[in-house]
Amino acid sequence: MIPLSTPIPNIPRISPIYQKRLAKLGIKTLRDLFFHLPRRYDDFSKITKIVDLRVGETATIQGKVLEISNTRTWKKRMNITQAHIQDSTGSIRVVWFNQPYLINVLKNDMFVSLSGKVNLDKDIYFSNPSYERIANGEWPLAEKNSSAISHKPQAIGHLRHTGRLIPIYPETAGLTSRFLRYIIQPLLPNAKQIQDWLPDAIKRSQRLLDLNAAILQVHFPSSIKNANQARRRMAFEELFLLQLFVLRQRVKRLKDKAQPTPFNEELVRNAVAKLPFKLTISQKKSAWEIFQDLTKDRPMNRLLEGDVGSGKTVVAALAALENAKAGFQTTFMAPTEILARQHFQTLNGLLAGYNLEICLLTGKDAKESLGGRISNIAKKSLLVKIKNGQMRIIVGTHALLQKQVGFKNLTLTIVDEQHRFGVAQRAALQKNVESLPDGLPQNIPHLLSMTATPIPRTLALTLYGDLDLSLLDEMPKGRQKIITNLVPPIKRNAAYEFIRRQIKQGRQAFVVCPRIEVANDRGSDTNSTNENSIRDIFADISDVRAVKKEYEKLSGDIFPELKIALLHGKLKPTEKENIMADFARGRTDIIVSTSVIEVGIDVPNAVIMMIEGAERFGLAQLHQLRGRVGRGAHQSYCLLFTDSPSRQTQERLKIMTTCHNGFELAEKDLALRGPGEFFGTSQSGLPDMPMGSLIDLIMIKQARAEAAKVLQQDPELKNYPLLKEMLKKFQDNIHLE
Ligand code: ADP
Ligand code: MG
Repeated sequence: MIPLSTPIPNIPRISPIYQKRLAKLGIKTLRDLFFHLPRRYDDFSKITKIVDLRVGETATIQGKVLEISNTRTWKKRMNITQAHIQDSTGSIRVVWFNQPYLINVLKNDMFVSLSGKVNLDKDIYFSNPSYERIANGEWPLAEKNSSAISHKPQAIGHLRHTGRLIPIYPETAGLTSRFLRYIIQPLLPNAKQIQDWLPDAIKRSQRLLDLNAAILQVHFPSSIKNANQARRRMAFEELFLLQLFVLRQRVKRLKDKAQPTPFNEELVRNAVAKLPFKLTISQKKSAWEIFQDLTKDRPMNRLLEGDVGSGKTVVAALAALENAKAGFQTTFMAPTEILARQHFQTLNGLLAGYNLEICLLTGKDAKESLGGRISNIAKKSLLVKIKNGQMRIIVGTHALLQKQVGFKNLTLTIVDEQHRFGVAQRAALQKNVESLPDGLPQNIPHLLSMTATPIPRTLALTLYGDLDLSLLDEMPKGRQKIITNLVPPIKRNAAYEFIRRQIKQGRQAFVVCPRIEVANDRGSDTNSTNENSIRDIFADISDVRAVKKEYEKLSGDIFPELKIALLHGKLKPTEKENIMADFARGRTDIIVSTSVIEVGIDVPNAVIMMIEGAERFGLAQLHQLRGRVGRGAHQSYCLLFTDSPSRQTQERLKIMTTCHNGFELAEKDLALRGPGEFFGTSQSGLPDMPMGSLIDLIMIKQARAEAAKVLQQDPELKNYPLLKEMLKKFQDNIHLE
């Protein structure tokens, strides 16, 4: 037995290059390798005699290689490897594309097992089948010496790429499924050592496989039924740990104290009456839920979920107003400078009549305002005014989390786009809160998080467990549907003409270029914005390059007569601000931008959102970008472009043309891409949950019930040392609210 803790470099057959690639995925030991789970399976279990092959079916054949050779097609510059495979019933042509090395792997007279699809051209043939050699020693002796080749199938226990259910792993960082199968299968007997940490009673009541049996079956299942059982077990344990974690957090939180703020009915009534619009019913309801929470002496922990444009800001502003008028401080934190600045302006507008001191603090600038009049202030002086409690509403980026920012009586923290804050930043938020200097050290501020990436209900329930939800599930009256098109490459020029006509009529447009992933190890569909991660710094550089190129093309070749501005994350805040201000005033026609405009920006005259490389965005993100237009009286349009011919991509993007509901899109994203990618991995704080367990609401409930049962009997998990250890590991890997 190879011990589970064996480092990958000490495992035979893994070269240094692959050691590195595995390490990149966090696979450092044999144990890690076993817990790198397949995403799905190819079913190659149907083993067929060659004579019985039917066009269109997926099948496995076993036989002898004849006449293997390479040719090159000059037209398509493709390398073609051809062979014939013969069994006792006949032979069939086999073709592989662009794998010329195969003639060094599969030699004439060798016995092989092939799995793939049977195609028809002039004759029937196998195209690009998965292949493996069948070792001579394992081939039935009688047949080795005879010229007649039997179709008797190879025992499946030895097959790993053909002839059975074949695991397909998430293929990232240059690790193919083929390589992983090659490495994992011969090591699997060592999985017997894995100790199960799930209590027996739970396994019994939930009818779950033992962990080591599940590991065996999840990698190389002997049937679909077994594969499903294995996945169920693996999924359950993820959810069980998550629920244990969430429930224990809740117990802890019940002990926390907060400053109650009595409901100031007159103030709120007045403020609502003064708004330039009528609140929607769901805005009223959400605001009411928040005001109720604020009256309690236990910290609020509420997530305000609402589609783009559903009007979350004004709800938060009302809460901030009441808190400020009660004499307490509120922080209002946004993930980007642009958004922080916009919130600062919005709050100044909405709360101008209340004689409140509001300020803006980001990494680069400091501003204060009183009664709506804004002026710059030295950062040092601003910090003093925050510390002594004079500043009542403090708007900013994660700069607010810096150590030197101290408060007098911070009792409400509002976090916009909360999931965009990194794990470390959330931890800092918590710390900041716990070390309140003079104010009320024993009090934890009420927390209102907001998200415009609507988190599907199932996910919210799992993630936050006891977090309260307020939903803005209706749009303010009179909002239009944004006409969305997936523009095929041949219609590109027509689309440009369309944009030109709109702009001639006085409208404006956004053009968004995708983030270019560098060292992309999560697949090309991720698109995250975490200002602090090193990878993103590199990504930013190439983003800027891509967006500049687009800008040059549009301003030089396509729309030389229009005023076009370039916006990206590397510009100084003042530059960004000027560009946005010019755009808002109609001085520029088009903004070409990276996805920095993804959140928040509000320009009612902008009616076109053109998105390049749309396949690089999640549906929820595309929906957010789309939400930048359609904010005024004019019909608005979202034009999606992609160079990807993949049918899957086309179908995914097509969803945007018919679906206009952020919640639905988010659900679809989750189903299509999994929770890690839904959030952007680095900041989700979520462990990768490859089993897709987060979508299974019933199992979530069962896991929750079992976790509650265990904690009720044994809150400190004294009788479950293994479980306790697992939970600790789990906790070290995540930081949720
Ligand atoms: P989001 O929920 O995406 O953050 P915002 O708070 O930015 O949305 O609101 C989008 C726009 O809708 C803003 O211009 C805001 O003033 C406006 N708005 C908010 N609530 C209403 C309402 N009830 N009726 C009309 N317009 C509203
Ligand atoms: Mg918003």
